[in-house]
Amino acid sequence: MFVPRSLKVKRSSNDDIKSCVAKKIKPEGEDLQLDQGRDVSVYTSVTEEAITPDRPSSQSGPFPSLAGQLREDASVGPEQGAEEPVKSFSKTQRWAEPGEPVCVVCGRYGEYICDKTDEDVCSLECKAKHLLQVKEKEENLKLSSPEKVGSEPESPLDAAFYIYKEHPFILNLQEDQIENLKQQLGISVQGQEVTRPIIDFEHCGFPETLNHNLKKSGYEVPTPIQMQMIPVGLLGRDILASADTGSGKTAAFLLPVIIRALLESRAPSALVLTPTRELAIQIERQAKELMSGLPRMRTVLLVGGLPLPPQLYRLRQHVQVIIATPGRLLDIIKQSSVALSGIKIVVLFEILNDKKLFKPPVLVFVDCRLGADLLSEAVQKITGLKSTSMHSEKSQVERKNILEGLLEGEYEVVVSTGVLGRGLDLISVGLVVNFNMPSSMDEYVHQVGRVGRLCQNGTAITFINNNSKRLFWDIAKRVKPTGSLLPPQLLSSPYLHDQKKKEQQKDKQTQKDMVTGANLMDIIRKHDKSNSQK
Ligand code: AMP
Repeated sequence: MFVPRSLKVKRSSNDDIKSCVAKKIKPEGEDLQLDQGRDVSVYTSVTEEAITPDRPSSQSGPFPSLAGQLREDASVGPEQGAEEPVKSFSKTQRWAEPGEPVCVVCGRYGEYICDKTDEDVCSLECKAKHLLQVKEKEENLKLSSPEKVGSEPESPLDAAFYIYKEHPFILNLQEDQIENLKQQLGISVQGQEVTRPIIDFEHCGFPETLNHNLKKSGYEVPTPIQMQMIPVGLLGRDILASADTGSGKTAAFLLPVIIRALLESRAPSALVLTPTRELAIQIERQAKELMSGLPRMRTVLLVGGLPLPPQLYRLRQHVQVIIATPGRLLDIIKQSSVALSGIKIVVLFEILNDKKLFKPPVLVFVDCRLGADLLSEAVQKITGLKSTSMHSEKSQVERKNILEGLLEGEYEVVVSTGVLGRGLDLISVGLVVNFNMPSSMDEYVHQVGRVGRLCQNGTAITFINNNSKRLFWDIAKRVKPTGSLLPPQLLSSPYLHDQKKKEQQKDKQTQKDMVTGANLMDIIRKHDKSNSQK
């Protein structure tokens, strides 16, 4: 049967909200045996990258002020404005713009979310087709693995009562057997009373759907980082973990995140912060695979380089897990009214050791648009550094993408006209090059002010030539007191001395014109005399 009401239309349906609330089984914090306040470090074999999964307390997260900055709860409140009727047929739906949700059936704009599967669909027609496909798939699966019959779909109740307990097999192992195992697998652990590693995914006692998803993704046995991290994460402890690329770190933090998010009624409950858009997309793909069929589990991707409105729209759909890059997240915090106060888990994935984040970009200022384009091209060609140009001919969307690219470490060099000189409080660059000296000292100060923001050190290099000769003395006056090096050519320039002399004369004149106690009577007398002559 096809029930139009069950399609979630722009979240304006209160039925949705009710069904979400109805599925909440236990008050937060009751289910997980949280062991907060103690940190665990996990290392497996060669260490190269670092992650910090699972921070159960929002106060201890890196964004303590998120909650305060944003008001409206994402899980309540219909969208503003009149509601459009739900599209009946796929052909009446438009095609998706880049970054917008895509219908799982026909590939058009996935305007709605199917309430049965949480997949994106474009119309009632595609929802019906999608449900048929899902049913067929399930039947085929049952035929191919008869032992699964009756074990799905997962009841929300089963998932919501999850508590991690060490499996009897693990409990029965001797301490030296555990140590031996860790040594053989290259697992090294620091921290107090760290729970034993699991050896099989079955030892986690996951909900059946999750076990099924793991098998479907080809995860037969956990990798070493997963063996140690998953049980520790499931207990709600803070973790700093490090392991080789390709060693399964993503699932190592995603599995505890999914379980925790299942227990939370407030959305969003988890934030995964990654340095790049590509990484965020990969993580979301894996999260969707693992969450498939689990009740109330949705993800949103908040990344730069893709249109913002669809991301904001999806963020308001009671999503449990946010996967974001820092630039886009800051943008959304600044301009949206979605409450992120429910976030209990923060995962910094490869943020801590991401070279790009620690390598601030170079900002080069030039005086014209053509100069910006040409110099940016030349820099990229000659140095191989990822470079782009910024000027008034760039559209608003292009400018925004460049700024986000700068924040996310996508560009190593940005060559800009004065448009980037002001108001970029968030961007901290390591080096500013004034390839062309700006036409005023005021603008110069704003441009060099892009370095060393947020208490960091930075360098500014300014090229000057005779085109800016009228500013020589001003530059020297301003820069000399900072202890910066000034070239002898500037200091010995006749222009500089000329300007200095003129300024001194002007100062003398000003002093002469100033009214003081000593010259007051003279001024009055002079004034009287000139009046009487008239
Ligand atoms: P990652 O290190 O998280 O990027 O994972 C590398 C690849 O290994 C990804 O394609 C994962 O899907 C896959 N993977 C992660 N865990 C397992 C596992 N336990 N068994 C098989 N493949 C896995």
